[in-house]
Amino acid sequence: MGVMFQPECPCGHPFTTVLEGVGEEGVIYRPAICSGCEDVLSVPVGDARSKPVRDLQARGTCGACGGRLQFLFPERCKWAQVGSWDNGAARESTVERYPCPKCHQQEMVLVVYGIWD
Ligand SMILES: [Zn+2]
Ligand SMILES: [Zn+2]
Repeated sequence: MGVMFQPECPCGHPFTTVLEGVGEEGVIYRPAICSGCEDVLSVPVGDARSKPVRDLQARGTCGACGGRLQFLFPERCKWAQVGSWDNGAARESTVERYPCPKCHQQEMVLVVYGIWD
């Protein structure tokens, strides 16, 4: 299981939600920015059951365009009002801002969107 994040940027680009954590098949996902795809992706980076990693993306290369991935470490994310998890105000001051792959401003944030399992 893991956490879903919604990338948000003042430019308003409609990013899809990305995943961080371990999926049903034991695949570990990390969110990453691909400047080639101009998008934020859920990238498989390994296998929790220690099977060999099949995916090139695990080495930091985008499987779609071959560009370099910039992995995001969403420990310092924005906590939206998700159910009872509402302690947003306290955490928002430490929100990490990332370079938006669309408008290239350092204004993109990751908003916690929910839990997946
Ligand atoms: Zn790409
Ligand atoms: Zn932007």
